[in-house]
Amino acid sequence: MAKFEYAPAPESRAIVSIKESYGLFIGGEFVPGLDGRAFKTISPATEEVLAEVTEAGPADVDRAVSAARKAYEHTWSQRPGKERAKYLFRIARIVQEKARELAVLESLDNGKPIRESRDVDIPLVAAHFFYYAGWADKLEYAGYGPAPGPLGVAGQVIPWNFPLLMLAWKIAPALACGNTVVLKPAETTPLTALAFAEICQQADLPPGVVNIVTGAGETGRALVEHPGIDKVAFTGSTEVGKQIARACAPSRKKVTLELGGKAANVMFEDAPVDQAVEGIVNGIFFNQGHVCCAGSRLLVQESVYDEVLASLRRRLATLRLGDPLDKNTDVGAINSAAQLARIRELSEAGEAEGAQRWSPPCELPVKGFWFPPTVFTGVSQAHRIAREEIFGPVLSVLTFRTPAEAVEKANNTPYGLSAGVWTEKGSLILWMASRLRAGVVWANTFNKFDPASPFGGYKESGYGREGGRHGLEAYLDV
Ligand code: NAD
Repeated sequence: MAKFEYAPAPESRAIVSIKESYGLFIGGEFVPGLDGRAFKTISPATEEVLAEVTEAGPADVDRAVSAARKAYEHTWSQRPGKERAKYLFRIARIVQEKARELAVLESLDNGKPIRESRDVDIPLVAAHFFYYAGWADKLEYAGYGPAPGPLGVAGQVIPWNFPLLMLAWKIAPALACGNTVVLKPAETTPLTALAFAEICQQADLPPGVVNIVTGAGETGRALVEHPGIDKVAFTGSTEVGKQIARACAPSRKKVTLELGGKAANVMFEDAPVDQAVEGIVNGIFFNQGHVCCAGSRLLVQESVYDEVLASLRRRLATLRLGDPLDKNTDVGAINSAAQLARIRELSEAGEAEGAQRWSPPCELPVKGFWFPPTVFTGVSQAHRIAREEIFGPVLSVLTFRTPAEAVEKANNTPYGLSAGVWTEKGSLILWMASRLRAGVVWANTFNKFDPASPFGGYKESGYGREGGRHGLEAYLDV
């Protein structure tokens, strides 16, 4: 099937005004860092410098934690839930009003297609604030006792794949429960968190309730190890999650970890092929595969293998890779040079270990960080590409004959974040779902999110749940 030629349809970037440099957001205002250090954030699609951002040192983190403590003790924890809810509703509405601007900013800083930031990320950010605003005055009915109280100050560290959405997952439930927060966005995608700081000002949120400190791993470490915080919420790699768990073990801090994944997307022979292929594509090529719950291992029943592979290849040939701001783009840029190097390294390991690599014909832009949609066949369970998280647009295909074999292979991973099942038989869906060791099991769909639905992992994918009523528990003293 040939690709239609479309004229370029770029979303205008004139709607965002990016400052040349940004300070830290502490105590309700932007302040310079104490030691004057800064780093640059770039557009991964063009390598253009977007802004200079302050690198917070330990003394800055200390200031932010003090501001959050003060706001917790004197203001936020004293406000009744219905008052806190008003601020969260206000934030949700401002996010909706600024949706276009936030979507363009996210696509510029992250490299994801505007269709995804516009239709998925930003609407879900607003939905999260609306959802938790609704809980703020009903916490006594959440099933955690008659008068559940907040924990105190939360230190929150997030990754770069869904920058503003991960912020919403962290901040909305924390504030609804009466906690104050210090949040550190990822070093490659700080801009929407800083735009969110401006939204907090616009919403008149009391100073110190939300503090944003920018920086890399060292800033994150200073935050999670700070003795003045009561709760650590981390989303990122399993490796860093383990370090954080070790660092917090001797303290009284409550910890939740949302880590990596290597999800199986299991396709049975009775599944409608075209619908399942759409789900497979969405499962691994959405957001360039920078998705912790991505369906990166396709398990396809042997009897339909040839048909599915042919259909998948046909579909991949129609994906458009390129300018993230173009409304027709399906696959955007890889978020950083470091992530591109990791994807390349693992893909080369796949070939070296004997798997067959295939990508559709696809022209990569000269500037920026790009990787074509890639499928590996002939993959065995021992291959690194079947075991390690690639966090890129790379699918490993394996086969199975019986449902029992599918379960065995799907669970043969140190991770357990998500899984997908494609079949027309409801009984088989339930049989599989009760055996798959994954926090989320999608049936005849993939990568579906809703603020009311809890999300989280088993095994090395972490512990604790975000979203839904379950997500409140992480921020309540229960
Ligand atoms: P990463 O662990 O390197 O970084 C995540 C965040 O932690 C960044 O803000 C980083 O600056 C900070 N950080 C780094 N070292 C730290 C330290 N020692 N102490 C405290 N903070 C530190 O991960 P990444 O490469 O940015 O993100 C990709 C990973 O995140 C993938 O493994 C992915 O699966 C995972 N992820 C998980 C979920 C989930 O909900 N389970 C969601 C998104 C991403």
